[in-house]
Amino acid sequence: MGRVEIRILGGGLEVGRTAISASVEGRTLLMDYGVNFAEDDTPQLPEHIRPSDIDVIVVTHAHLDHVGAVPYLYTTSSHPVLVMNRLTKAVSEVLIKDFIKISGYYLPFDESDWYRAVENLRYLELGEEVELGGLTLKSLNSGHIPGSQTYVAELDSTRIAYTGDVNTIDTRLVKGYDRGGARADILIIEGTYADVDHPSRDVVEKEFIEAVKEVVGSGGSVLVPCFSLGRAQEILSLLYEKFSEGRVYYDGMVRLLNSILVSYPEYINNYELLLRATKEFEEVKSASQRRKIVKSEGNVIVASAGMLKGGPSVYYLKKMYDNPRNAVFLVSYQAPSTPGRKILEYGFLEELGPIRARVEWFDFSSHAGFSGLLEIVESFKDLKAVVIVHTGEQAFTLYEELKQYYDVYVPKTGSTIEIEV
Ligand SMILES: [Zn+2]
Ligand SMILES: [Zn+2]
Repeated sequence: MGRVEIRILGGGLEVGRTAISASVEGRTLLMDYGVNFAEDDTPQLPEHIRPSDIDVIVVTHAHLDHVGAVPYLYTTSSHPVLVMNRLTKAVSEVLIKDFIKISGYYLPFDESDWYRAVENLRYLELGEEVELGGLTLKSLNSGHIPGSQTYVAELDSTRIAYTGDVNTIDTRLVKGYDRGGARADILIIEGTYADVDHPSRDVVEKEFIEAVKEVVGSGGSVLVPCFSLGRAQEILSLLYEKFSEGRVYYDGMVRLLNSILVSYPEYINNYELLLRATKEFEEVKSASQRRKIVKSEGNVIVASAGMLKGGPSVYYLKKMYDNPRNAVFLVSYQAPSTPGRKILEYGFLEELGPIRARVEWFDFSSHAGFSGLLEIVESFKDLKAVVIVHTGEQAFTLYEELKQYYDVYVPKTGSTIEIEV
């Protein structure tokens, strides 16, 4: 037992650029190293940490707010060991290269630094355990997106668990969080939705499918702007199972992500369904195909990006917004001041004018709500302290509930906490 120093390098009372280090007896574990985007889209990195001070970096999943700044840690001559699973590596590579292509001008690293990171990669697949120079790491399924994993680390007999982003429910795409009853002294948990419970997935799915059928049944088409990793594949699987009244297309980065995810059956809950959906629904490969689709009726188009901030979903919106028989169904989080949020709140976009198509939002969250987070905390044995990150003021709802049983922290980015266990 000893003293743990936890530094919040990012993700403290903010959602994004998650980066937390834990040090015990001179050994340091870094958990995620992600980026954030300012309103004008410039990337924001987490606070600096010297690569030579890190023994091991673990990455929970391939979203850029968890992995996007990892190459920065490989720009010097010190190269810490990097841990993630094969699927997370494959997807991270695609997203990081895309990120560097778009935002490279602002970044203190380039693609070669990512390849240097990969040279120091030690794979740890879901459910596996490994010992790395006196530090033991165990992986558990986090249930957030395919490949997302929670780590339980043992540093000098202090056990620290870190969830990254987490969800407790089973979807067609991923199984919910692994409530295996792990032991930990300290739990670092996300709190994106720490003050609410989401409606049940069955209800949301039913409403979504009914709405899609209504639009298609009355001669319209539906645009479903989607995050290309996770949400798109869940929607495609759902449509494949429950919708046969029209044609379904997928377009944009979704295509590349589909092809990667179908190569990792062990990470997909209903693999067969996803495989069939990606094979039997039509992949949009050309501009002429796109033009043909928008001229016909009764289509469902699943296209990136999820907040209508680029990608082919913007093209489809421009072609579809003016017809009240069409619909735009948003199925992802819509950040403030994004086009997705604007059409939802005001039914209006400066560049287009009033949106005459039906606009609706469906709560297909991949983050646990209040009750789910509580369940995860309670699933740990021997737990003494809980640190809530990847959150805002909503964390204090969960804090109030937990503080009767544990030492609870909601630290800001830039702060350091010391915990005696
Ligand atoms: Zn995530
Ligand atoms: Zn996240």
